[in-house]
Amino acid sequence: MEQVITIKEMRAVIVSFRQKGETIGFVPTMGFLHEGHCSLIREAARACDRVVVSIFVNPLQFGPGEDFVRYPRDLKGDFEKCLSAGAHLLFLPETREIIGENSGAFIRMDRIMDILCGASRPGHFQGVATMVLKLLNIVQPDYLFLGAKDFQQTVILKKMVRDFFMPVRVEVMPTVRESDGLAMSSRNSYLNPEERKSAVALYRAMKKGKEVFLKGERKASVIKPLMENEIRKESAARIDYIEMVSPETLVPLDDIQRDAVILVAVWIGKTRLIDNLKLS
Ligand code: AMP
Repeated sequence: MEQVITIKEMRAVIVSFRQKGETIGFVPTMGFLHEGHCSLIREAARACDRVVVSIFVNPLQFGPGEDFVRYPRDLKGDFEKCLSAGAHLLFLPETREIIGENSGAFIRMDRIMDILCGASRPGHFQGVATMVLKLLNIVQPDYLFLGAKDFQQTVILKKMVRDFFMPVRVEVMPTVRESDGLAMSSRNSYLNPEERKSAVALYRAMKKGKEVFLKGERKASVIKPLMENEIRKESAARIDYIEMVSPETLVPLDDIQRDAVILVAVWIGKTRLIDNLKLS
C-alpha cells in the first residue's frame, strides 16, 4: 500500500491507475479507523480495482469549542487497518495544501445543511461538503463510499453529486455496530466505562420506536415520547434531537405513511453521538 501526502503525487498515482484502465473507489475518513470504516474499504476493494483511503481531520467541519484538537488520531493503527481491509493508496493531505489560505470558497446548500445536526453544529456540513468536493476533485474516483451512520451527511453529499453533475457513484454502506447495538464511532473512545454503558440508549430508543411503528403506530407525536423516555433512563444522557424524517428530504414527518428514518443525536456526558434507523 502506497502512502501519499501531496496533491501532485496523488494525481500522478491516479493517472497511472487510469492508464491501466483501473476503476477507483474512494473512502474519505478522519482516521482513528474502526470496523465501520473497514467495512467501507472492503466493499470498495470488492467493487473496484483500486481503493484510495484519505485520512484528514478536517478543521472546516469543526465549530469553535468542538473537539478538533483532541479528535483521536492513530496513524500507525490506521495504516495497518487500511492495509488489511484491502486499500491500495493512503492519502494524507496536509492542511496548508488542501485548505491553504481560507479562500472563502465553500459548498453551501439551503435548509438541508441548517437542520438537525446542522442546527446544532452551524457550518459543519458546509465544511464536510467543501472538503469532500476538494478530495473528489483530487482523487477523481468512479465510486465514493459513505457510511449510513452519518445519514444527513449522505443525503447532503448525494445532493452535491447530483446537483453539480459530478461523475461519481455514491454507495452508502450499512452502519456497523458493537455487539450491544452502539454504532461504531471514533468518538466512542471519549466515553468512560459508565458512559459507554449509557450510550447504548440511542440504539435502544430507536429500536423501541421501530417496534411501536411495526405494531402499527403511525404518529410521530406518539412514537417520539416513547423514544425520549428510553434516553431519559440514562442520567448521563441529554437529547439534542430525536426526529422521524423523510429519507430523501429530511423533512420531519408526523403521519408516517411511507419510508421514514429515525434520526437521533444525544449527548452522553461531553460526547455528542448520532445514530439512525430506517423505518420500513
Ligand atoms: P469519519 O472518519 O467519522 O469521518 O467517517 C468516515 C466514513 O466512515 C463516513 O462515510 C462515515 O459515515 C463512515 N462510518 C463511520 N462510522 C461508521 C459505522 N459505524 N458504520 C459504517 N460506516 C461508518
